[in-house]
Amino acid sequence: MVSARIPLVAGNWKMNFDHLEAVYFVQKLAWLLRDAHFDFRKCEVALMPAFTALRSVQVLVEADKLKIHYGAQAVSVTSQGAFTGDVSADMIARLGCRYVIVGHSERRKYHPEDDANIVDQVRAVLAAGMQPILCVGESFEERRQGIELEFAVGQVRDVTRDLSDEEAGKLVIAYEPVWAIGTGMVATGQSAQDAAHAIRMSLRTTFGRNVCDSVRILYGGSVTSRNAVELITEPDVDGFLIGGAALDVNELSTIARLTVKTTSDAAK
Ligand code: PEP
Repeated sequence: MVSARIPLVAGNWKMNFDHLEAVYFVQKLAWLLRDAHFDFRKCEVALMPAFTALRSVQVLVEADKLKIHYGAQAVSVTSQGAFTGDVSADMIARLGCRYVIVGHSERRKYHPEDDANIVDQVRAVLAAGMQPILCVGESFEERRQGIELEFAVGQVRDVTRDLSDEEAGKLVIAYEPVWAIGTGMVATGQSAQDAAHAIRMSLRTTFGRNVCDSVRILYGGSVTSRNAVELITEPDVDGFLIGGAALDVNELSTIARLTVKTTSDAAK
């Protein structure tokens, strides 16, 4: 990646870590990055805990003035009322969250989240002043048919079609091929680049150059410290959404450090 976009390394903890484990993890991550003289101006680091841990993470981040960001993994499309178990965007924003993951393949699979619902989630997150991390990506079947790029681009178009340029500029897009999530099968650098580039070009067609140049496109799917360098070297890959490897604090801090090193070396 050689661009003005600041990379983002985001850990999606899914349904792991209670609030005490989350606090321990954040403290250790902060120590590791501080010891490594990590430059947060060159790479953002964000964590997506379960709802039950958000308040504890907020208190720690604010008390210790940590530069680590955090966000939620899901959001309700409604703002309040009789929706048992749901959490609104305003409630999440009140906890200091910067990001909300929207449209993760596990949410699409296990919950009734279709494209129309995902559009509403994106709108709710933006209206509450946060940034959606919009997940798109093909299944193994679409890849087998050779339509993976059209599929991912189509998902982005379907969700963003009614957004203003200003709203679209606040998106983060995570290209996450479903066959790569949690499987140990990772996309090659070239195939992550092809998808990220196709998505970027589609943003350019719909919204113009500023949005195209500024939106960060992450890769997600079995990222580890062993494959991160190959992926982040690609010019349209601006960071990672990480599941399994984000549960290991040493691994996450290594990926963040490799991201800074690789993108800084490429900029020289
Ligand atoms: C994810 O859940 O967004 C993800 C990419 O998971 P993993 O890194 O475990 O493949």
